[in-house]
Amino acid sequence: MCITAHPDDEAGNFGGCLQLYAGRGVETCVICLTPGQAATHRGSAANDIELAALRRREFAAACAILKVTNGIVLDYPDGQLHRMEAYKVVCELTLKIREFRPQVVLTFGPEGGVTGHTDHSMASIFATLAFHWAGRSNRYPDQFSDRIRPHRVHKLYHATANFTLPDRQPVTPSPITAVIEVGAYLETKIEAFRAHTTQAPLFQMFESRMRQYGGQERFHLAASMVAAPVQTETDLFGGIEKN
Ligand SMILES: [Zn+2]
Repeated sequence: MCITAHPDDEAGNFGGCLQLYAGRGVETCVICLTPGQAATHRGSAANDIELAALRRREFAAACAILKVTNGIVLDYPDGQLHRMEAYKVVCELTLKIREFRPQVVLTFGPEGGVTGHTDHSMASIFATLAFHWAGRSNRYPDQFSDRIRPHRVHKLYHATANFTLPDRQPVTPSPITAVIEVGAYLETKIEAFRAHTTQAPLFQMFESRMRQYGGQERFHLAASMVAAPVQTETDLFGGIEKN
């Protein structure tokens, strides 16, 4: 399960791993917290509602290209995640984790990724709390039913990077503990990003950045059910039994 803030985050930050693991038979899920209605680049949208509708369709198209099993866009306001009530957002994400029952959760690092976007930072904080609380019987117990039970996720990864963007506020990324080879999926990752047609002014910059750095996706192991000394991993599912 991958928890993001905006439509296009899934392709830009996690698109290689989503394809890699879908190809290995892993069921994948992307939860995007906002429909991206505050974007600078707005395509033909006349207002925020039209832009949200366009970007939901673009997200669905990108998820199809990335072979995402379950792509969900929630309805939080783009650019405003820091104003949301954390306990409520984490409640919704905790329920999604208890429903989907992932083995691995991916999200941004608290620095907000290479762009340092505040929404990315908040997605990281919310997802991290949901990761920890989904497995506890004393968190949101009103969610429990025949179908919904506590679920402990094996591992939590924060996306991290080996490059920074010029002309941006400084970001202090998490150390790289996992390097996943996704070069074989680079072209489809770019294609999935291009499915976000309202964001066309970003395509050239994204593509040149990906051709420079996109052969690997890098992560920081932020939590694990097995507390072992950190070793550099090449597989996000390393150490997890198949079931
Ligand atoms: Zn974003």
